[in-house]
Amino acid sequence: MEQDPIQNEKKVSRKAISKKLRFEVFKRDAFTCQYCGMSAPDAILHVDHINPVAAGGQNEVLNLVTSCVSCNLGKGARTLSDSTVVKKQLDQMKAISLRQEQLAMMAEWRNSMVGLEENAIKSIADYINRNLRSSEFKISDTYLSDIRNMLRRYSVEDIYSAIDKSVMTYLKDTSTQSVDAFLYYIPRICYWQKLERENPMIAQVNRIVGLASKRWYHCNRQSLHRDILTYHEKHGLSLDLISANVMNSTGIMQFNDSMAEVIDA
Ligand SMILES: [Zn+2]
Repeated sequence: MEQDPIQNEKKVSRKAISKKLRFEVFKRDAFTCQYCGMSAPDAILHVDHINPVAAGGQNEVLNLVTSCVSCNLGKGARTLSDSTVVKKQLDQMKAISLRQEQLAMMAEWRNSMVGLEENAIKSIADYINRNLRSSEFKISDTYLSDIRNMLRRYSVEDIYSAIDKSVMTYLKDTSTQSVDAFLYYIPRICYWQKLERENPMIAQVNRIVGLASKRWYHCNRQSLHRDILTYHEKHGLSLDLISANVMNSTGIMQFNDSMAEVIDA
């Protein structure tokens, strides 16, 4: 690059490298002298011009390199002859710009994911509202955040299928339909579907407990759950048999008595 001689003259009275630029160079070079490999705090570091100021070198990040005091003094005002340092610096610059590019790509990717999520929320909300078209009700902003939470735990397909199931149970029969129940059970059906897929045994135990709590006057769900697991896992009794005994009992005492008979038999 041709320099205007007068301007060049001015530049020789070296312009201070800003603190910010110095920090950028140190960070890029990992606070290590690029000539000898000494690093802070063992070495006092300077920022060195690869192409000296006297030769028209500028305070640009590409013309600056981290140097310890002794390397910096030893080099004097000579142009750096070791081209490997320049190459190393260029490689580092490439690595940095690659990393910056990747960060930018990652940010873009994250934004597009947010966009996808917003789209999914909107289409699920539309689907729910379409199922509610006979009522005046439209889902609230609070329910939109419920949908967002569902999307973090369950797939879009699972959510649609839960909506369909909830429609069948709570909306189809106009004499008993309940919009509140319809909405309330969508995330719960999602949970049951997932449990059914991932742990069918526990899902069946839950169903038996649900059955008991509907049929019995009083039912301690937690202790019944524990008892059923014991009968099934410790005594090897089938869940179908356990379920039949729940159906034939009026409460936990009768149920446990009938199970004791089975075990003793
Ligand atoms: Zn050094």
